[in-house]
Amino acid sequence: MKVLKFGGTSVGSRENLTRVRDIVAAVGEPRPVVVVSAHSGVTDELLRQARSAVKGKWSVRKLRQRHRKLYEEIGVDPAVVDPLLEELRDLLRGLSLVGELTLRSLDLVASYGERMSVRGIAAWLESQGLPAVPIEAYDLGLRTDSRFTSATPDPKCFPSVRKALRSYKGKLPIVTGFIAKDKDGNVTTLGRSGSDFSATLLGAAIRAEEVQIWTDVDGVMTADPRMVPNPRSIPTLSIAEASELAYYGAKVIHPATMLPAVDNRIPVRVLNTGRPEHEGTTILAEVPAGKGTVKSIAYKRGVTLITVSSTRMLLQSGFMARLFEVFARYDMSVDLVATSEVTGSVTVDCDKQLDAVVKELSECSEVQVDRELAQVCVVGEGIRDRYGVAAEVFGALKKARLPVRMISHGGTKINISFLLEEPHVRKAVRTLHKVFFG
Ligand code: ADP
Ligand code: ASP
Ligand code: MG
Repeated sequence: MKVLKFGGTSVGSRENLTRVRDIVAAVGEPRPVVVVSAHSGVTDELLRQARSAVKGKWSVRKLRQRHRKLYEEIGVDPAVVDPLLEELRDLLRGLSLVGELTLRSLDLVASYGERMSVRGIAAWLESQGLPAVPIEAYDLGLRTDSRFTSATPDPKCFPSVRKALRSYKGKLPIVTGFIAKDKDGNVTTLGRSGSDFSATLLGAAIRAEEVQIWTDVDGVMTADPRMVPNPRSIPTLSIAEASELAYYGAKVIHPATMLPAVDNRIPVRVLNTGRPEHEGTTILAEVPAGKGTVKSIAYKRGVTLITVSSTRMLLQSGFMARLFEVFARYDMSVDLVATSEVTGSVTVDCDKQLDAVVKELSECSEVQVDRELAQVCVVGEGIRDRYGVAAEVFGALKKARLPVRMISHGGTKINISFLLEEPHVRKAVRTLHKVFFG
């Protein structure tokens, strides 16, 4: 059985929904499990409304219009989402009365996007002769911990998810991406773009033969198509390469997407809803060595570098352990790490608890914080086995007069990452893209 996931743009217009219908119908029997995102723009609007509700101003008008316009175009009764819009209105009103927005309520508000889209999309596919049924992933038993806005799934729920999905035999399940529930029944989300992760989670639960991520580009490209003028689609990537790219910022797949696929060796394909005939990218556990050394270049903006220096650290063992322990306690995950005898430098991509972390570290060391940095990551299995890739990367950056702040040659040896000032990131990605892809 296959799992097919369609992103926000793929389910955002009549034209694309027509393609979705054809793609899904072409799979035939056994029918696939279909995972969908909210219609494009909806999650952003929900989060905007939640944030403004606590300041006393909110409205579901735009959301109602967005769904009404699309559903009228595809001949679906817009009333299918009315009960949810009513509920949402009550919820936003509640937030405005309480004047407080917790991460838990933020997730609850965000969940309405996918809960509405499964209803509209299932109604449309049903009107097209397909036996579609809208399903909320938590009703299949998809469980996570309670880390709202970026919850971690509990694989122990897989057998019940598998069993629940089996009961839809002969039907076409249209399942919400992005959302789940914790053990207390609170709605959680898997983080922005989390529907990709939902797809591989369901894939792992049913031991799918393949997971297809349908999006708005021809698969994973040699760089973000919004950054470089002539990106190329990459026919095959190893799971390790895809994981590194996703983790280091290639927005095309959610960073955790590959984890369930790795454990279960499920092939993942990234395909273009607008051009279903294009082969896209296939991600496999192992791929034969290709021609090029570097496969793709990812980047992340909004990175902060924290450098901790302490003379007391000299000859002290356990300094790094203590450093990481502080970050872990504040639930901040660390990306790049570099150390010398007297300093430890780490990068983080979220500012949430930074002040508290810095305060604590400052008690026993000198701490320097550099914000507004960007991280660029060059990825490819070939990097491990070939000499001189680093020279090519840093030689090109030198020629382009781009100063580099910190360098890391990841533990897997299939990536070379570095930091630079945020305003330089576009030039750096373009320069390297030219070097490796002409
Ligand atoms: P969806 O709504 O289908 O999940 P996203 O917007 O989340 O789509 O992801 C697709 C987008 O990711 C593309 O439109 C592209 O701009 C961006 N992107 C960033 N890096 C890459 C890359 N290396 N390859 C392909 N797309 C990328
Ligand atoms: N709708 C969610 C978002 O916009 C999840 C997703 O699209 O994957 O982040
Ligand atoms: Mg996405």
